[in-house]
Amino acid sequence: MKSSNPQVMVQAYRLLIRQMEDEFGICYPLHLGVTEAGDGEDGRIKSAIGIGTLLEDGIGDTIRVSLTEDPEFEIPVCKDLVKRYTRRDDAGSLTPHANGGPKNSAVHPIGAPTAEIPPIGHIPYSPFEYRRRVSRTLPGIGGQHVPVVMADFMQAGHIERGDLRAIGYSYDAGSDKWNIGDAAADFIYTGKKAIGFDLPGTLRPVCDHSAWLELDDQEKYIPLYQGTEYDRAGERSDTLNFIALDAADDESADLAESLKDDATIVLCIYTTHPIAMLSVRRLVMELFVRDVRCPIILAVESKDASIDEQLIHFSTEAGALLLDGMGDGVWLMNDPKKIVNTRVSGRTYLETKNNHQFLNNTSFSILQATRTRISRTEYISCPSCGRTLFDLQETTAKIRAVTHHLKGVKIAIMGCIVNGPGEMADADFGYVGSGPGKITLYRGKEVVKRGVDSAIAVEELILLLKDSGAWIDPVASPLVQAD
Ligand code: SF4
Repeated sequence: MKSSNPQVMVQAYRLLIRQMEDEFGICYPLHLGVTEAGDGEDGRIKSAIGIGTLLEDGIGDTIRVSLTEDPEFEIPVCKDLVKRYTRRDDAGSLTPHANGGPKNSAVHPIGAPTAEIPPIGHIPYSPFEYRRRVSRTLPGIGGQHVPVVMADFMQAGHIERGDLRAIGYSYDAGSDKWNIGDAAADFIYTGKKAIGFDLPGTLRPVCDHSAWLELDDQEKYIPLYQGTEYDRAGERSDTLNFIALDAADDESADLAESLKDDATIVLCIYTTHPIAMLSVRRLVMELFVRDVRCPIILAVESKDASIDEQLIHFSTEAGALLLDGMGDGVWLMNDPKKIVNTRVSGRTYLETKNNHQFLNNTSFSILQATRTRISRTEYISCPSCGRTLFDLQETTAKIRAVTHHLKGVKIAIMGCIVNGPGEMADADFGYVGSGPGKITLYRGKEVVKRGVDSAIAVEELILLLKDSGAWIDPVASPLVQAD
């Protein structure tokens, strides 16, 4: 079973199991992989979302992470993926946090969490097709809005204009305007702090309710409440109120149901349960059943020691829910002081100057890989093998360098004409090796140019993109006046 699209891959395996059980009453062991996942952060994230979602479901007996990189870079990613389930077995009775949850997190439990995830008799959505959960449309979130990204600045001592560069906003002092990138966060959580300068209009600050009460310009900020704190709050926002809910708490579903007619509420769902994704998915299923349509932000915290493990953790736990249509946004959080390395191992493409940038990149990459929010070019490339007759890694990097600004365009770079065309079925354009020093170019499934000399094939690909109306010249992002 192969697909380069994690969503197709996950649904195909689930359907295969259903079919095997219907036809034979048994299920053969299954090998999992996202084929032609590409390289760099994207290749790892796509693999983790596809493989990790199925492993979370209890599906899969062997795995392979297929990267367009040297093979030794694949094994550590595999190990990080399966390690999560070794720990899960070791967890035994799965005792949740005895002290009531993460101390560095913006979200805290509202009661004693339960260890057991309650069974559900009927799954209230189809795990075999993508359909986004219906949510209420609120300002900038929910309904038809693309899933949002929340940047977590709770632990920052103070926030300067220059800090926002890591989350997609560059300030131009000369014009007093903001330059906004394609991967610019939508909300910024500040904890108890206010921001001492005007933000661009596309970035909304969220702060703790206690801090919000002290603000002179309350209308610019969104208050965040911890669970039942909302009920007790005398003063609230008229437009948007964010409520943090612990999926491991028995009372969270009742609380959400009691607020379902309140058209100002966004639920920020986290969990203190050790089996995090299943715990959150169980609560969201309960919200389906109770017809609670408040938008949901998936708040995922990683305590893993390395940035590589964190990448797998975030991709699996947020990605699995997004693939099932759950979530109107993501809010990734960690404690940078506890991370041993600052860059993802192997080939990397995304600038990672600090932890905020890592979390922002990862959020947008997860949304891209789940096809829920497209912010950049998508690459599909094979790992190469004995059939590859050109330097695939070098060519992939070269093509990325000249096409990375083509937001939404899917480009395949495949080593051979034998398997390449079939496995790049999802791509808009294909660059496929067809003999020593020769390349065939595709538009979708149609061959456009055969036997192109590899010395000029990248330029020919650009010409094809231009002829097809898919090319734009790289330009600086527009400048936007501060609010
Ligand atoms: S060269 Fe061909 S067979 Fe080999 S990995 Fe790439 S697409 Fe698959």
